[in-house]
Amino acid sequence: MEKTKKMSEDKKYSNLVYNKANYYEKASEKEKEQIFEFAEKYKTFIDECKTERECCREAIKQAKERGYSEFHFGDKLKSGDKRYFVNRDKGVVFFKVGTLPLEENGMRIVVAHIDAPRLDIKQIPVYESDGFCYLKTHYYGGIKKYQWLTIPLSLHGVVILKDGSKVNIKIGDKEDDPVFYISDLLPHLGRNQMAGKATDIISGEQLNVIIGGMPLINAEKDKIKINVLKTLYDKYKITEEDFISSELCAVPAVRARDVGFDRALIAGYGHDDRSCSYPSMQAIFDVQNENTSMCILVDKEEIGSEGNTGIKCKVYEDIIDEICFALKVNSRQVRGKSICLSADVTACYDPNFASVYEKKNSAIISCGACMNKFTGSGGKSGSSDASAETVAKVRKLFDESGVVWQTAELGKVDIGGGGTVAKFIAQLNIDTVDIGVPVISMHSPYELISKADLYSMYKVALAFLK
Ligand code: MN
Ligand code: MN
Repeated sequence: MEKTKKMSEDKKYSNLVYNKANYYEKASEKEKEQIFEFAEKYKTFIDECKTERECCREAIKQAKERGYSEFHFGDKLKSGDKRYFVNRDKGVVFFKVGTLPLEENGMRIVVAHIDAPRLDIKQIPVYESDGFCYLKTHYYGGIKKYQWLTIPLSLHGVVILKDGSKVNIKIGDKEDDPVFYISDLLPHLGRNQMAGKATDIISGEQLNVIIGGMPLINAEKDKIKINVLKTLYDKYKITEEDFISSELCAVPAVRARDVGFDRALIAGYGHDDRSCSYPSMQAIFDVQNENTSMCILVDKEEIGSEGNTGIKCKVYEDIIDEICFALKVNSRQVRGKSICLSADVTACYDPNFASVYEKKNSAIISCGACMNKFTGSGGKSGSSDASAETVAKVRKLFDESGVVWQTAELGKVDIGGGGTVAKFIAQLNIDTVDIGVPVISMHSPYELISKADLYSMYKVALAFLK
């Protein structure tokens, strides 16, 4: 008798143990439906939006439908206002002015990026060789170059013509569009290639995209190149010189697809970081709150957040200043009270490549959006290490909302590492912590996520902004 009592008392202590939960296992039938519904809208978004410009355009369109209007520096503001600010068509900031005093409560900010690894087209890109016409590329972001061979590619971007007019290009994603292609060596002749290092399978200068193969019969020379230029001129009025003022890129011409018999997962291009930017933007659209909230969708994260469209640009600090100025509050005080989620994807534990992960501190698939207290590499170098106080604050918000989420770091100590925009926001004296969707095969042309984690990201952003 005494012994059984002792046993059941001891059992209570198992509550002291922290365990991750699989969101699918915890979700009600109704919530499972919501998870799947959200995934459908997300797939449509990433199929339509494969560059930062396309994401920016679509995000603004959706914001306008929800009553957002454009904000310019110097505009007046009042509580209840829903506004957006566009940065050079490559980034957008949404904000809602709340009713709570800003100097005491600060802002709730979510930042995510909308650029993704890809192959940028060079400024003098077109050439012909032995029956083919090619575009030369310069890759953007950290890619494994060999993954971009022998897959269908589409071309996206803008060309600014001599007269200043802007031509939008988007070709290769519709069912009846042509696609573009980078070749690989046949295995029969690939013995030396396969014996080398994976980084040498193909060089950056070999990432040349095939764009044609039909000669213009009466042209004097470079008949295939001239035929391609003729096609471009007939269709878009583009000349070879116009590529100088273009921003074109080759991206995978693939649609997002459900993966698995149970459709639990989604494969797609650009989950990094659209699986965070899309939920973040939906969260600010949907949230009912009294806080002043902000969602920043930013460019250039993949190459270090540089330039005037990356988060390092002063404009993002200026927007906070401008809002504070319009509301007659002290911006420095507001920033000191603000808190930010840096919404960026993280490495998902891959059982097929288990050796690079320390499982206890890895993001597990379908266990929810994953908080990274720090990122960086080699002794946390380059990381914005969120304080225990900040983590506690955010943790409380998540737990009160009942959302399934988890925490992890990027991989085993000293195996590698990475960074996010968190440290640049933190520099503005804003408490910042990373959270994002765990991704398998990150930075590949076709990345994999869980629908449950995608929906969890929406729920955590919603809980945070509230
Ligand atoms: Mn990212
Ligand atoms: Mn990335």
